[in-house]
Amino acid sequence: MNDDLDKHGQGDTWAAGAEGVYDLVVVGAGISGLCFAHFARHAGFSTLVLEKSAEVGGLIESITVDEEDGFCLEMGAHTCYNSYSTLLEVLDECGGLDLLQSRLKLPYRFWHRQRICSIASRLHFLELLFSIWRLPFTDKDDLNLKEFYSHVLGEDNYRDVFHHAFSAVLSQNADGYPAAMLFKKRPHHRNSVMRKFSARGGLQSIPRAISKTLNIKHQVKVKDIFAENGYIVATSQGEIRTKHIAIATDHKQASSLLRHVNPDVAELLSMIPTAYIETVAVALKKEHCPLEPHAGLISTDTNFYSSVSRDVIADKYYRGMTYHYPAKQLGQTSKLSVICESLNVMPENILFSEEKSQSLPAPMHGHDLIIDKIHSRLQNTSCYLVGNYFNGIAIEDCVVRAKQESSRLKSNPNGK
Ligand SMILES: Cc1cc2nc3c(=O)[nH]c(=O)nc-3n(C[C@H](O)[C@H](O)[C@H](O)COP(=O)(O)OP(=O)(O)OC[C@H]3O[C@@H](n4cnc5c(N)ncnc54)[C@H](O)[C@@H]3O)c2cc1C
Repeated sequence: MNDDLDKHGQGDTWAAGAEGVYDLVVVGAGISGLCFAHFARHAGFSTLVLEKSAEVGGLIESITVDEEDGFCLEMGAHTCYNSYSTLLEVLDECGGLDLLQSRLKLPYRFWHRQRICSIASRLHFLELLFSIWRLPFTDKDDLNLKEFYSHVLGEDNYRDVFHHAFSAVLSQNADGYPAAMLFKKRPHHRNSVMRKFSARGGLQSIPRAISKTLNIKHQVKVKDIFAENGYIVATSQGEIRTKHIAIATDHKQASSLLRHVNPDVAELLSMIPTAYIETVAVALKKEHCPLEPHAGLISTDTNFYSSVSRDVIADKYYRGMTYHYPAKQLGQTSKLSVICESLNVMPENILFSEEKSQSLPAPMHGHDLIIDKIHSRLQNTSCYLVGNYFNGIAIEDCVVRAKQESSRLKSNPNGK
């Protein structure tokens, strides 16, 4: 085993056990991996998290524009709710609840035919009135978003409003997405917490707070996993032995990492489509941005899905927006033109910009069958899968999945 990876010095429960074998290695320090490691550590498992990048958070990434002022932009996730009770439970246990920051109530707007307009102005109210009665009688199961919402809100409303709104929420063409995976009823709300929140220093402060209590090795990429008396994890910095292995990466990477250990699950994961997104975040001085404060733009153009505004957190000097585009459709200059046109600013007014490529699962009809098969193939193994392709893509869906999988871990402590 690599020497560096063998030294922890953070207390006995975190160190590898006898003969340098961990109870659990978690691959990936996004919210799924961190929460799984949190639950495992609380149950007394010696746990090591391996993360290929220098930071924790994965798709929760906050870029600081002005350190002194604390102004930052969200490249990925931007909003949490007080219905994220499992996330709040973890954060509470890590002493991170005081990080939460409320958001100003601002409207979302449509970007339609190169103009900004209200969502209401795009609605077909008569059609809505004649369709909505179907809502209590229509089951979401087995329907995709297009089928379900065309039925309960009307076809014209779906085409002109909700298709674009859902595509903005999911950063992908929403039509084929299973209706049951979006807008779930969450049973518990923490009423002591604001309804919608971000965090001081950006949403990434949340995974950072959770990571403080964990044993994490950064810039260690897991390349392969082999089953041998537990597992051998082959990384960019050497091999590690563990009784249990948890994969908390995106589904494509998980498929590749499981090819030797569980080829059936690897094959099932490879069947889940992926949506690729190109993200550009920009910051401007307040006086250079004439647009009214807003929470974000929903685009009816195919050019971009949405722009998420930073106006919801007041700042003295800056405004900022993060634009999400479908991948490989626009070059850098065209992306910038879209930004300048929709904000009504000149390119020279953009003070700061940052780009990132990211991906999300794009579940389709039959996704629940894939997930059921994955569950049955993982039964009675000491291999655990967590991520945003089980319950849904929201942060709370990831944390709930991590909690569910940790029960399986606790019921099989010896890793048979
Ligand atoms: C644009 C956008 C906006 C969003 N907005 C919201 C929102 O407002 N609210 C909300 O609730 N959700 C939102 N989401 C969804 C949510 O952010 C994600 O679904 C969630 O953060 C995924 O977490 P994860 O840990 O499962 O995966 P990831 O965040 O992808 O984490 C996986 C981690 O694994 C690491 N990794 C991968 N391969 C390896 C390897 N071989 N070795 C070591 N490490 C590896 C990666 O570096 C990464 O850190 C948004 C997502 C996007 C893309």
